[in-house]
Amino acid sequence: MRTICFSTQPHDRAYLEPAAKVAGHELTFVSTRLEAATAKLAEGFPCVCAFVNDVLDAEVIDCLSEFGVKAIALRCAGYNHVDLEAADRFGLVVARVPQYSPFAVAEHAVGLMLSLIRKIHKAYNRVRENNYALDGLLGFDMHSRTVGIIGTGAIGQAAARILYGFGCRLLFVDPTPQDECRNLGAYVSFDELLKRSDIITLHCPLTPKSYHLFDQAAFAKLRPGAYLVNTSRGALIDTSAAIQALKGRRLGGLALDVYEEEEGLFFQDRSSQILEDDQFARLLSFNNVLVTAHQAFFTHEALEAIAATTMRNLTQIERGEPVANRIVYRP
Ligand code: NAD
Repeated sequence: MRTICFSTQPHDRAYLEPAAKVAGHELTFVSTRLEAATAKLAEGFPCVCAFVNDVLDAEVIDCLSEFGVKAIALRCAGYNHVDLEAADRFGLVVARVPQYSPFAVAEHAVGLMLSLIRKIHKAYNRVRENNYALDGLLGFDMHSRTVGIIGTGAIGQAAARILYGFGCRLLFVDPTPQDECRNLGAYVSFDELLKRSDIITLHCPLTPKSYHLFDQAAFAKLRPGAYLVNTSRGALIDTSAAIQALKGRRLGGLALDVYEEEEGLFFQDRSSQILEDDQFARLLSFNNVLVTAHQAFFTHEALEAIAATTMRNLTQIERGEPVANRIVYRP
């Protein structure tokens, strides 16, 4: 199927191209982000392949439909950035890659947690400057600490298994409890998780209900000095509230792989530019904030799985078969 792939980096091409060759799909790669101003690039392609920070709102979907696009194949799991109502109205099929490697994201979340708690990010720089002093690097054992996991789908469960192995006590919040997690810890209310957790890790999707889940009121209920890790979606956290919680020492540390204003910032080398986002600059100024730029998914296994599933989605779309990973609009 002739497909234009937006927001592609060399690594996307390295995995998608060979998979497309085997599956018999014809891919065109552009590094441009999909948005209203760039949607015209899709003219004449029956399908577009998009990533997490491409814009797929009603305006863009309207344009894509006008240019003859019939399907959107997301090469990511989250679909909070797609206006499904608009896609349904214009008759576009939307498919995603639901679970490429839950381990990739869960392991990164735990990596961020350990780095922050043991101050590995500070130690790395210190040793390179011939400074072997330990003051300021005091951490705490993960063993016996209480970790709150919000969202116990594929990634949350993978994180739970790792943390259980560390000897952590686990609390969970999810409207759909899982038996496996019940054996590893306890499901509690959101407020109880906030009150009891030493560390909280977010693995729920971004929805209208979970938007700014961590706002001023939620931070006020946190156990003082608790750590928060977000590898899910940036807008689960209200950044200004997080900054206030860090300044007020309510939040002991914050590790982010995602940021609510990351579109137009992440996935590019901007080292020769001035950082214009004042809130992000403030976040980076805290020595107990650790940020990676949406790389939790970025493993060999995950990229292989993303390419394979995307090709399967394209084949089913092209043949008019039921698309197993189709996202159906439910009003
Ligand atoms: P999943 O669908 O398997 O699980 C999501 C779970 O969250 C479900 O069990 C659901 O019931 C629960 N949930 C929904 N709303 C909730 C709420 N308000 N509070 C608590 N739980 C809630 O998804 P997954 O594969 O585990 O992925 C989770 C999220 O991780 C994705 O939505 C995506 O945003 C993010 N993600 C990030 C990266 C990255 O590179 N940083 C990569 C992949 C996925």
